[in-house]
Amino acid sequence: MKLKNPELFQQANYWNGQWRQSSTGEVIEVDNPSTGKIIGQVPSVNRAEVADAIDVAERAFQSWRQEPAHTRAKVLRKWGDLLLTHVDDLAEILTTEQGKPLAEAKGEVRYAASYLHWFAEEAPRNYGDTIPAPKTSQKIIVQKQPVGVCGCITPWNFPIAMLARKVAAALAAGCTVVAKPAEATPFSALALAYLGECAGVPGGVFNIVTGDSAMIGDEFTENPKIRKISFTGSTRVGRLLQEKSGRNLIKLSLELGGNAPLIVFDDADLDLAVKGTIAAKFRNAGQTCVCVNRLFVQRSIYDEFIKKLKVAVEALVVGDGHDEGVTIGPLIHQKAVEKFQKHFDDAVAQGARVICGDGKANGNFVKPVLMTDGKPSMMFCQEETFAPLLVAVPFDTEEEAIQLANDTPYGLASYFYSNNISRVMRVTDALESGMVGVNETAISNATAPFGGVKWSGYGREGSKYGMDEYLQVKYVLLGG
Ligand code: ADP
Repeated sequence: MKLKNPELFQQANYWNGQWRQSSTGEVIEVDNPSTGKIIGQVPSVNRAEVADAIDVAERAFQSWRQEPAHTRAKVLRKWGDLLLTHVDDLAEILTTEQGKPLAEAKGEVRYAASYLHWFAEEAPRNYGDTIPAPKTSQKIIVQKQPVGVCGCITPWNFPIAMLARKVAAALAAGCTVVAKPAEATPFSALALAYLGECAGVPGGVFNIVTGDSAMIGDEFTENPKIRKISFTGSTRVGRLLQEKSGRNLIKLSLELGGNAPLIVFDDADLDLAVKGTIAAKFRNAGQTCVCVNRLFVQRSIYDEFIKKLKVAVEALVVGDGHDEGVTIGPLIHQKAVEKFQKHFDDAVAQGARVICGDGKANGNFVKPVLMTDGKPSMMFCQEETFAPLLVAVPFDTEEEAIQLANDTPYGLASYFYSNNISRVMRVTDALESGMVGVNETAISNATAPFGGVKWSGYGREGSKYGMDEYLQVKYVLLGG
């Protein structure tokens, strides 16, 4: 990697304001999913070290929570500014460890900065309430206080943004954080910590450990000093964390898997729908939890829409994310490639027709696939594909489309295209998901509440709702 500031690439852990090498000699090697080459290594901590990081965060909490909100805001603002100053280096690190095209990586860094900036603004707006009391001699005051030390666990698909949106809200609220990034992509998180240090985040307020995920998860859920866990990842691990954190009654936010439907009605602007479908299906090579997983197209416009979609899918360019013009990078690892192929083979076996792509892989690279004649019984309808594979399913009526869209235990994002305002209101109400994009698929931004329902979890990130996840209500009755 050619970095203007090589210090952004840290192969260490960070707690108590200090960079730490492995104490045991155990490390995790990280590769570039485009080439398979090892790009670096990070320590694999032991459990005592995780506990130490939590102790440090607990001590730092006592002073950080006392800082005026404006002071916390100043630090967050500067941190966000530094992300923008170093956008090229951060994108370089991100693309090298994660694979996404550089342009998308830069977009992710800006998106991460937007959370730091948003929560810098929200910190001084942590308003309370006064409530008319039952007696004249009383006053009821409601205040919101930080919950305490937070364990934040993040995935590999948005390694800087997912962490920034947790830590920004937590720190704005007055909490401190011990974070565990995904094994595949620790360097973006460590670069974030480095810039946090530069921005003046006091030692112990933001800490990062890397190592065995189950062991770190166990320490997070069993250590009574952890008062909050914010997790983004699979429903399987989310369930596990919920079960394990029950004992300590830890406050949880779980942003889990999705199975997003996109419905194209016959009254839609088809060109707009094609654009939205491409963006929401193929961003990050199909590896986002709000990616379109099931495409439902009304039969009367089915052929016309598929024709337009085919042209757009064929225009996508597969390659190393560093290369000019590439729009689809590699999948993160071979397990992801296998899932893509399993969904491809299953759809073909059940009668889907291939329009573009071939289901073959070259290392971690796969060509984007478009298929038609999809059916709800196909595997891609049951679970997230998390790869650039899109199968269109025809439908006839609005009722049928809603029934198909809701026929999943997941409920993160859903999208539809229609220019009929009555239909827009009906379908918006009927869809079972935490987020609905109408005539638009770029739904994620710092000002809006991101989160799911059903098996996609609970809790919201971003917006004024995002900070509540890190706060608890204290009510004071003033008598006498
Ligand atoms: P994915 O399948 O997309 O990798 P995971 O849910 O496995 O999703 O991973 C999301 C994050 O959860 C990663 O940081 C991973 O290391 C972490 N993780 C995996 N297993 C556990 C566990 N048992 N306890 C805590 N964190 C875990």
